[in-house]
Amino acid sequence: MVYLDYNATAPYSPSVVEFIRSELVDCWANPSSEYALGLAGAEVIKSAREKLGETLGVSPKGLIFTSGATESINTVLSFDNLSNHGIKRIISSPLEHSATLDQLKYLAKHGIEIVWIKNDSEGQLDLDSVSQLVQNHSLVTILHANNEIGTIHPIKEITQIVHDKGGLIHIDAVQALGKIPVDLDDLDVDFASFSGHKIGSMKGIGALFVKALKKFSPLLRGGGQERGYRPGTLNAAAIKSFALALKDIDLDKMKALEDLRNSFEIEVRSKLGAQVNGGGAPRLPNTSNIFLEGRSSRDVLMKLSKEKIYVSVGSACSSGSFEPSHVIRGLGFSNERGFSSLRISMGYEIERAHLNGLIGLL
Ligand code: PLP
Repeated sequence: MVYLDYNATAPYSPSVVEFIRSELVDCWANPSSEYALGLAGAEVIKSAREKLGETLGVSPKGLIFTSGATESINTVLSFDNLSNHGIKRIISSPLEHSATLDQLKYLAKHGIEIVWIKNDSEGQLDLDSVSQLVQNHSLVTILHANNEIGTIHPIKEITQIVHDKGGLIHIDAVQALGKIPVDLDDLDVDFASFSGHKIGSMKGIGALFVKALKKFSPLLRGGGQERGYRPGTLNAAAIKSFALALKDIDLDKMKALEDLRNSFEIEVRSKLGAQVNGGGAPRLPNTSNIFLEGRSSRDVLMKLSKEKIYVSVGSACSSGSFEPSHVIRGLGFSNERGFSSLRISMGYEIERAHLNGLIGLL
């Protein structure tokens, strides 16, 4: 098998595999129980929060475990949290993940003003438009790195613009975590969302960073777990697996994938006439999104799948018909380009031979 769909989800990282094989069966107690069994679980959660804080360069106090990034994003973009900060306008990009876009659509229906940052055909944001759009009482919500084309946004610069104008910023840092350094203290963002399964943890676990906890409202109401910021019995096993996956991050190994990715792109451009979506922008080292003119990327996906090579395509099935990717369309391209685009997203184990095998089948 050659797995090239790491941006969809990552296989369990080595320490997570070991944990699942040897310890998972013992990790069932309720970590809120006050007897020793529960306290051991509470200790697991405390050290996982510390590990996450260490990885992200922030105090663990501002970190809340959630069921994943969809929940984290929806929490930041909830009516309660918007109203706590007097947010009247949200500024975002049409290239966001659907977890953000769908919630923004919902908010728009209920009277929140949503305005859009312009981008060029490589997916780079127009920072002048950010500056024009942000007002006092605005929230900018933006991807740190795009899941489909891998483009990295200049978060530090955007944050400065936003804060200078009296606004707040939330980043969807799901794809950035584990692929490029994410230092929240340095980035100075107000909120950040993360997902464990993109770095090799079990699924159903993520995190939310909140700088100003005093002004934070939980999405759910119930028990006092997570200091009341996210009630619901904690999944200690998944949280432990998140911490283990964080421990297995190796940014040097990730950076080394950039050379492989670049030589893959040189070859598909010259041999197959492929074009690279977002290829002119700073990108995640593991991600390549290629446009193969005149080819159906679904047909290519099925052909590769028969050979146990797994990639993803720039279109998705919605209400029984295929829709081209909103990201490819958002770059200003036609539906056809969406139907003919393929995403290859690599993990540490990928070598040149794997990519040569892929090119041979394209
Ligand atoms: N944001 C981005 C950029 C993603 O790639 C994903 C995963 O598909 C999500 C949010 C949602 O994350 P989760 O699966 O943890 O809800």
